[in-house]
Amino acid sequence: MLNTHCFRLDSADDANRWHGDALEFLNRNNIPAIPICYHVAYEYVSRRHDELTRLIDAQLNKTGQLDGHYLLHLFESQCLDGGDSDRLDRHLADLHNLLFKVLEGVTNSCSQTDLFNETLLQQSNALSANPGVEDLRGIANNLLSATTQAMENNRLLHEQLNSVEQQSQTLQSEVEKLRDEISMDALTGLFNRRALNKRMNELIDSYGDTTAPFSILMLDIDHFKRFNDSFGHVIGDEVIRRVGLAMRTELRELDFPARYGGEEFTVLLPETDITSALDIAQSIHQSVAKLILVKRSTKERLPSVTVSVGAASFRRGDSSESLLERADQALYQAKESGRNKIVSEAEITYM
Ligand code: GH3
Ligand code: MG
Ligand code: MG
Repeated sequence: MLNTHCFRLDSADDANRWHGDALEFLNRNNIPAIPICYHVAYEYVSRRHDELTRLIDAQLNKTGQLDGHYLLHLFESQCLDGGDSDRLDRHLADLHNLLFKVLEGVTNSCSQTDLFNETLLQQSNALSANPGVEDLRGIANNLLSATTQAMENNRLLHEQLNSVEQQSQTLQSEVEKLRDEISMDALTGLFNRRALNKRMNELIDSYGDTTAPFSILMLDIDHFKRFNDSFGHVIGDEVIRRVGLAMRTELRELDFPARYGGEEFTVLLPETDITSALDIAQSIHQSVAKLILVKRSTKERLPSVTVSVGAASFRRGDSSESLLERADQALYQAKESGRNKIVSEAEITYM
């Protein structure tokens, strides 16, 4: 289940120290020491999982605080990689065994066919040698048992081939499912941060071959904490899901919407300059504002949801980090200047 970063036996001294540090870290951030949060905290204080450490430090620098949801998200995105590849490895090992068995079956069947051919040849020679009635009966018996044996071998081979076909179909759908799980966010059905980073690096790498610009939006639900505090986390989750859906309806086939974490989203807009990106941001902004959310049990209408958006366009020489950083600064400015608005990188004045 857990990836290699998270799976090892530490010395008792290290483990004791990190245990204390992890509890202290959780306490300081007001996060309950439930096993998954504890696990992430332990990984963080032992500082051997570079990406996890970087993400937590970045979050602390940005907001000065952490919460349990963010740790759950990090657990899913950073600590479960190995599980996926373990599953894939297991399937591949199964397929390998299966193919080996079939190969054995085919080899066996080929040597059985050689035997069958040899029997036919022998019996044909016996027929040419003017056999008597008794000899004929013997030849007929030999042919019958050789043919029965050959049919049985064929049947076994067919069975094995059928089973390979079935198992390779199962394997194929498992691999597809796995690929989805690896790149999708379970709550919203949008891509996750891992898939986003991959796609963004692909776009950057291919930028030299094309002059088409691409842009990126970073969105964050405004005052989302209030939804959680007033209506609970289940409804909070539903708000995140509906915002994700509203976003998706405004996007084109080629766009790449991802849940960046918590109540933050990122959209990659290939072949889109900053002006068109701002138009798309505007339609997402409106689509979210139009959402009508009703608490099913009481029919109570939830307050309207708004998002703040930062937009930036790729510039030659940008890394995914520098591009994200500009979009993030624009988002920060949208928040600082009152929320519920869209800010382009050209307007950034806060640093
Ligand atoms: P701002 O307008 O500045 O963005 O304010 P905010 O309240 O939206 O932002 P803040 O960062 O203060 O709080 C975000 C909250 O989102 C805190 C956290 O508990 C909650 N949260 C993060 N991830 C999830 C999640 O997956 N589900 C739910 N229900 N809540 C989450
Ligand atoms: Mg946020
Ligand atoms: Mg927010």
